[in-house]
Amino acid sequence: MKSKAVLIREAGANLPYAKSKPLEIVEIDLAPPKAGEVLVKIESAGICHSDLSVVNGSRLRPLPIILGHESSGVVIELGQDVHDFKVGDHFTTVFLPSCQNCYECKSGIPANCSVGAKANASGQMISGGSRISIEGDSVNHYNGISCYSQYAVIDERSLVKLPSDIPFDIAALFGCALLTGIGAVRNSAHAKEGQSLGIWGLGGVGLSALLGAVISKAAPIIVIDPVESKRKLALSLGADIALDPKDNLRNTLAEGVSVAIEAAGRADTLIAAYESTARGGTTVSVGLPKAEEMFSISALSLVADLKTIKGSYLGSANPRIDIPEFVKFWRDGKLPVEKLLTSTSSMLQVNEAMDALDGAQVVRQVIHPHK
Ligand SMILES: [Zn+2]
Ligand SMILES: [Zn+2]
Repeated sequence: MKSKAVLIREAGANLPYAKSKPLEIVEIDLAPPKAGEVLVKIESAGICHSDLSVVNGSRLRPLPIILGHESSGVVIELGQDVHDFKVGDHFTTVFLPSCQNCYECKSGIPANCSVGAKANASGQMISGGSRISIEGDSVNHYNGISCYSQYAVIDERSLVKLPSDIPFDIAALFGCALLTGIGAVRNSAHAKEGQSLGIWGLGGVGLSALLGAVISKAAPIIVIDPVESKRKLALSLGADIALDPKDNLRNTLAEGVSVAIEAAGRADTLIAAYESTARGGTTVSVGLPKAEEMFSISALSLVADLKTIKGSYLGSANPRIDIPEFVKFWRDGKLPVEKLLTSTSSMLQVNEAMDALDGAQVVRQVIHPHK
């Protein structure tokens, strides 16, 4: 079937993207879903930093590619052997499919699925190949999702079913921002009640980490971001102290924080987070720095101060267990996801939305492919 979608042919265009227009609205052909795959109608899609990283060239993905990995919508057609979905089901997308069969998946860490990671890196579906073409030429999938599109063919292992009463703009955020941020706090850092916790970078993931820290009753919660409006938002969402990156956290909390979450995706911020981590504490890196960035710390401090540094991808989560729990938090009023939504716009405004994210003044924007 035909679908309008957002294509990128070349990375690294000049800013502003509203002028250079690296993202084109094109008409794609979608092949029918194969075994285990479904055809979906996308209703809402988030503008995430990982998409921007492909546009600006800091994260290499095979091009041309249809972008988008954070979305919600409705299943409209089933391929063969689809077990968990029926037509009409609502879903949120998860940007790493888990094969449920590799060593990592069988160890209970689907967020580390090696088969899914390989498929994502090659721009293919987890069961191989592409379902997207333009005039007969194959186009790559972004993380098996490619949801900046009116319709998409997605493997059911990339979807989590959601109740149909959750607004699509809220549902879209469950699979990336919330899973990554809350998962970093709960699954990677195992933050406990009364533990001091710092969060560097207040984008969609950093603020989601804050919501996770509030749910975990960490205290005090210290957030660090250069943008004043984001610091204010964080304070209204439950942060105890908000600092500018120029301030040294140890002037506020001399011993440092027990848990430090780096969500800015920068090596210098990761160093700041590590240096602000208390003795015996854990630094969790959740942002995606540029591939060439290195980070250097005192090797002695790692040992003598008994520190731990951890990477957290997809919130070290099991999406089909974690996301239904988030839905419950949201229903109970503990997860004010709507506060993370900065704006909604038409898919036609995708270049402008990338400019706004690059300018760091927004938290989460969503686009609507059918408007
Ligand atoms: Zn994302
Ligand atoms: Zn796997």
